[in-house]
Amino acid sequence: MSAQAQMRAMLDQLMGTARDGDVSRQRIKFTDDVVCKSHLLDCCPHDTLAGTRMDLGDCPKTHDLALRADYEIASKKKDYFFEVDAMKHLQSFIADCDRRTEVAKKRLAETQEEISAEVSAKAENVHAINEEIGKLLAKAEALGAAGNVEESQNVMDEVEKVRQRKRDAEEEYRNSMPASSFQQQKLRVCEVCSAYLGLHDNDRRLADHFGGKLHLGFIEIREKLQELKKLVEEKRDKIEQDRMRRLDEREREDRPRRRSRSRSRSREYRASRSSGEGRRRRSRSGSADRRRRSRSGDRRRKHRSRSRSRSRHGRHGSSERGARHT
Ligand SMILES: [Zn+2]
Ligand SMILES: [Zn+2]
Repeated sequence: MSAQAQMRAMLDQLMGTARDGDVSRQRIKFTDDVVCKSHLLDCCPHDTLAGTRMDLGDCPKTHDLALRADYEIASKKKDYFFEVDAMKHLQSFIADCDRRTEVAKKRLAETQEEISAEVSAKAENVHAINEEIGKLLAKAEALGAAGNVEESQNVMDEVEKVRQRKRDAEEEYRNSMPASSFQQQKLRVCEVCSAYLGLHDNDRRLADHFGGKLHLGFIEIREKLQELKKLVEEKRDKIEQDRMRRLDEREREDRPRRRSRSRSRSREYRASRSSGEGRRRRSRSGSADRRRRSRSGDRRRKHRSRSRSRSRHGRHGSSERGARHT
């Protein structure tokens, strides 16, 4: 990217694509395909990992804070389902990362000296304690930086205890193999961000890794993905429920016509009524649809049918319907 293009991209992000009255650029709307939906939802990995060792450069789609502001206002009145786009985006990004982790693990397994399962379990133990120390140190630093001196000191005391455990674990590991092999750096791949971690990394390096922008950025992306998955599922369930409810309502309105049109349906209808099982059996939906209908949906339907039948009872004096609720 040329220096000028780079500057333009930077200004786009800071001031919006419509800043200089360029007519063609002014027409970009947040709903356009060229606009990054993950950016609108503030979770594009190109933003999250900017400035880290895994900086992805500019997103191929448009990032623009003014468009995000437009979206935030508009999305209060209408659901654009951009969570689906963002979810797919993050899913493929994380899948790539996990593939890289697998490749790196395989490469390590090939290049690192063969050690027995027993020794490798001891090495794993040291790695696990290292991770604990790294996370605690990062936490202590963050607390200290926020002015929480006392809490930060408490965490540091905890670090001291874990360090003692690490010395024991290292001792055990060292005793299980020749000194020359112990010197060799044993690496492991971080499952979160796919970076290499050394068994003999010092505290500074551990703290830098587990409190670093890259590792934390990946945690953020992974958490966001889980959140999006849940949101998308909830929205899909809601749409399905609404669809089923509309279908049910239509079916009820159409019933007289349908009955005369379809004998089998009316027979089914009578059968379900006499068996007392009622509405659920009569439903046209498949078992999957039925399962997806929440209990609250059923309750809603029941409630509606009750109030309906009550009013009918009043209007038409239908003894059959009235009797069902006594
Ligand atoms: Zn993006
Ligand atoms: Zn990591």
